[in-house]
Amino acid sequence: MFSDIIGFETKQFKRIKKIINDIDISYNETDRLQIVKFLNFDVDIEKLALRSKELTDYFFGKTILLYTPLYISNYCINGCLYCGFSALNKIKRKKLSLNDVKKEIISIKEKGFDTILILTGEDRRNSSLEYILKVIEIAKKYFSEILIEIYPLEEYEYRKLVNNGITGVTLYQETYDKKFYDRIHKFGPKKNFNYRLDAVERAINAGVKEVNIGPLLGLNKNYDFDVYMTVIHGQYIQNNYPEVELAISYPRIQSSVSKIKTYPVKDIDFAKIIFITRLFLNRVGINISTREPQYMRDNLIGLGITKMSAEAKTTVGGHAKNFYDAKQFEINDNRNLVDIIKVLKLKNYRPEFTNWVKI
Ligand code: SF4
Repeated sequence: MFSDIIGFETKQFKRIKKIINDIDISYNETDRLQIVKFLNFDVDIEKLALRSKELTDYFFGKTILLYTPLYISNYCINGCLYCGFSALNKIKRKKLSLNDVKKEIISIKEKGFDTILILTGEDRRNSSLEYILKVIEIAKKYFSEILIEIYPLEEYEYRKLVNNGITGVTLYQETYDKKFYDRIHKFGPKKNFNYRLDAVERAINAGVKEVNIGPLLGLNKNYDFDVYMTVIHGQYIQNNYPEVELAISYPRIQSSVSKIKTYPVKDIDFAKIIFITRLFLNRVGINISTREPQYMRDNLIGLGITKMSAEAKTTVGGHAKNFYDAKQFEINDNRNLVDIIKVLKLKNYRPEFTNWVKI
């Protein structure tokens, strides 16, 4: 499990930071030293972008997968200091009835999507596994690909979901800095760092086809550490579980919903992070969400990203009808699917709607 080696990898990072000034930049190297060097020094960003583009086109062709998230519940028992759904916040809590789930799903399907990401806040009592299984039961009648972003589960629980039709699991570690993680998660099961970290491997052992990992950029003052560890975590998954499709997301925190000081990552650094990830993880899917503004999303098409969310709502429901107001975060790209497809086609990229087709 990755939790067995994270201590060693953290020491490696600290050792590299001490000698960083003595390391030469080589665009051909693929070792740990280079990841840290690229993250910390001015590099030729155009050269990096070009290499990222070459690798992305080579491994993925000119395609971008489009999907949309559906929030089915905003109940959460965790005290995360940076999230709109935190139990620390007094917001209206709601979960969708199965009837409303069906309306949302039909509305999403009618827009043209074939991949859906089902999300909940983390609360086993209000969003029980049985409830989630019933939602999946409805979703699988309409979608080829069902991904979930819920609380971490035991392997046998993931197996139940796999047997019921999910293809993938998204689970963000937020930060790989264990001490900092403990400080920003005030209470709740999410405080258990290792249990969360190893959940993607439990999901893989249970048979999911794809996993999506990532840090929340801007939480940790030292984003270089979290990006480094994400890449190392990605390499670990690819080496140990070659049968699984791995994707990485780098959501950037929005200061407006955070109760703690944030450290915004600049656009140029965000782009550099995507290029570096491609350089060191050639085959990884890279996802960009609607947290990012239109100009970032459009400009990064073809330069490393392979998946984009579209028409996202971060309220519970919100596709068929705007049910409730509390949002997990703000959307910065409100274009509809048709407009996003137009941009992709203008750039000679083909929109894809699923990775997996049932046969
Ligand atoms: S980040 Fe997830 S676990 Fe934390 S408060 Fe938000 S929804 Fe709950």
